[in-house]
Amino acid sequence: IPGPDKRPKWLIKPADDLEAVRGMETRLERLDLATVCQTAHCPNQGECFHQGTATFMILGTRCTRRCRFCAVDKGIPYPVDYREPERVAMAVSEMGLTHAVVTSVTRDDLPDGGAGLFAATIHRIRQDCPDVSVEVLVPDFQGQTSSLETVCAARPDVFNHNIETVPRLYDRIRPKADYRRSLRILSYASDQGLLVKSGLMLGLGETCDEIKNTLNDLKSSGCQSLTIGQYLAPSGDHAMVARYVPPEEFDVWAKTANDIGFKHVSSGPLVRSSYHAGDMIGKTGGG
Ligand code: SF4
Ligand code: SF4
Repeated sequence: IPGPDKRPKWLIKPADDLEAVRGMETRLERLDLATVCQTAHCPNQGECFHQGTATFMILGTRCTRRCRFCAVDKGIPYPVDYREPERVAMAVSEMGLTHAVVTSVTRDDLPDGGAGLFAATIHRIRQDCPDVSVEVLVPDFQGQTSSLETVCAARPDVFNHNIETVPRLYDRIRPKADYRRSLRILSYASDQGLLVKSGLMLGLGETCDEIKNTLNDLKSSGCQSLTIGQYLAPSGDHAMVARYVPPEEFDVWAKTANDIGFKHVSSGPLVRSSYHAGDMIGKTGGG
């Protein structure tokens, strides 16, 4: 697997602003909060932290699933911390965010999959920071309608659930997930009148036809906003990168998605689910 030094030049970012990174880390440690920026080794950390933004990760930093593309720790999850919503809202306020993005690990061990804590976090941000829009990037809750109801009833400004890859690669890349189930989740949120968003990684071995079919499936599920980015292997133990997709191809996919009818598309090698997340609703914030 090519290490960072063997990656094509379009994936190499300028050196991180270490002061900004340390400042953000200190704030997060003080508030005892985690971010997916850190746990998933996001390549945009330097940029986002420099801009004073981050994506909060609630429900602990250990996941009950083992997706082969993901750097997040796996294993016995941590106990739920019911004070977390309060601290997330405090961080949103301190950071002066106008758009807050909240995600979590998958908690298959919890009866509601953590939906209640998502809803509590949305409510708490609304209560303490009424002008801030809230985006949630949720797991699939094993498809439980009651959990989806809980999150949707809290009316996030953006409901995001990543499809991640094309259906053929699910068994290998997302073994405990289900492509059709993820589409149903997006449809459910769309039917509730929420602004629905999803994300796709390229470079795992998918074909052009498979990408097109997935974009069409997402559109048919009511998804209006889309992110497309390059998969980067977190380590040699993770799924290998099959291909580095050049930036021009990301532009072609952006055009294809726009032609299909997505209202907002962000496509590029380093685009991640929460990258410049506020842009789609005219706010600054998110990553
Ligand atoms: Fe990572 Fe999410 Fe998969 Fe867990 S469910 S391993 S956090 S991608
Ligand atoms: Fe964090 Fe998202 Fe920015 Fe990555 S793109 S650093 S996950 S806010």
